[in-house]
Amino acid sequence: MPQLTKSAELFEKAKKFIPGGVNSPVRAFKSVGGTPVYMAKGSGAYLTDVDGNSYLDYVGSWGPFILGSMHPRITAALEYTLKNIGTSFGTPIEMEIEIAELLCKIVPSLEMVRMVNSGTEATMSAVRLARGYTGRDKIIKFEGCYHGHGDSFLIKAGSGALTLGAPDSPGVTKGTAMDTLNATYNDIDSVKLLVGENKGQIAAIIIEPVAGNTGVIPAKPGFLAALRELCTREGIVLIFDEVMCGFRVALGGAQSLYGVTPDLTTMGKIIGGGLPVGAFGGKREIMERVAPLGDVYQAGTLSGNPLALTAGLETLKILIDENPYPELERKAVILEAGFSDNLKKLGLNYVQNRVGSMSCLFFTETPVVDYSTAVTADTKKHGKYFHSMLEQGIYLAPSQFEAMFISFMHTDEDLEKTIKANYNALVASGK
Ligand SMILES: *Cc1c(COP(=O)(O)O)cnc(C)c1O
Repeated sequence: MPQLTKSAELFEKAKKFIPGGVNSPVRAFKSVGGTPVYMAKGSGAYLTDVDGNSYLDYVGSWGPFILGSMHPRITAALEYTLKNIGTSFGTPIEMEIEIAELLCKIVPSLEMVRMVNSGTEATMSAVRLARGYTGRDKIIKFEGCYHGHGDSFLIKAGSGALTLGAPDSPGVTKGTAMDTLNATYNDIDSVKLLVGENKGQIAAIIIEPVAGNTGVIPAKPGFLAALRELCTREGIVLIFDEVMCGFRVALGGAQSLYGVTPDLTTMGKIIGGGLPVGAFGGKREIMERVAPLGDVYQAGTLSGNPLALTAGLETLKILIDENPYPELERKAVILEAGFSDNLKKLGLNYVQNRVGSMSCLFFTETPVVDYSTAVTADTKKHGKYFHSMLEQGIYLAPSQFEAMFISFMHTDEDLEKTIKANYNALVASGK
């Protein structure tokens, strides 16, 4: 059983100077309890903590590390940029054109793209653009979908009052909340209802085409196509938030996997190769409204800086050169089948959802298709499961409602080890 002495000490100290001791809430382990693990080093599929314990990493910096941590090609490219180019100029650089051109080639919906520094910036900018383009104020999102921490997205429908947005967080104004409507994932009728009640007022529908922030929930066949049809008919901008699933479920993202093309796409995580990068792009006609070409303002001091773009560009090039997707699928199937066997042996019928190398084991027997079915999961059992996995050297996201990511660097041996640990952890989590 790993000792977390140093981690515990650091966490106590951190709490004095940083709210909750962390720079992003989920890292504080609140939903699983216990002490967050302070990592000291990452390499491939492994992490080492400050107490010297080693873990197999299934968080991958929350998605970016599809190629594992410190991929030699990415490290070498970053070293080259540091030595020979610099970290930032605040001027245009050639690399910006290279990544923009490559993105437009890879992602079906992109005709033009703007680089930013995070997923949050990408979604905030995309929604402003959709509002500017349509001249409408309201947006529809889906309950349980996460689009970063922009005010417009921190709104969930109050129970039974689907059309009345109430802020999830103090600090979000009622005015903002009123402009955000929540629909039910995988339920086209819930969307049609909102559109009907707000005729001519909806600027955008934003969705994670594979929901990855309520565990993992795939879109049902036909759901995304129905959204596409509705948006086209009603003049609504369809935004796919592919910050997580982009370059993860396929090189061209969920839109290439499912063959549905949105008007705008937001990206992040993998596109930064471990550095802070986001992007939004789409139809030329809409993107031409972005400043300075158009009148919708958007800017960033460090946007498109050489260091961050180097990591992103090199990641994309490796993904193109090596096409890791069939191999990721093979590994993901092994893990899923191993977990299924374990569940069967133990007489448990927990649900596993998976699209490519992103998956989630839900501690519920109810099929998980949306937010309300996801929250039937037993988070207490999940907490026990999480800690048992941690003790066995498997680092999972410290929440039931996060994805498990496999990287290209996970070996078959790593997967076997994980399947064995899963059996023990399921036992530990209790009936
Ligand atoms: C992570 C995430 C974001 C937010 O990205 P940040 O870089 O954390 O701001 C937005 N949308 C989705 C779908 C995400 O998974």
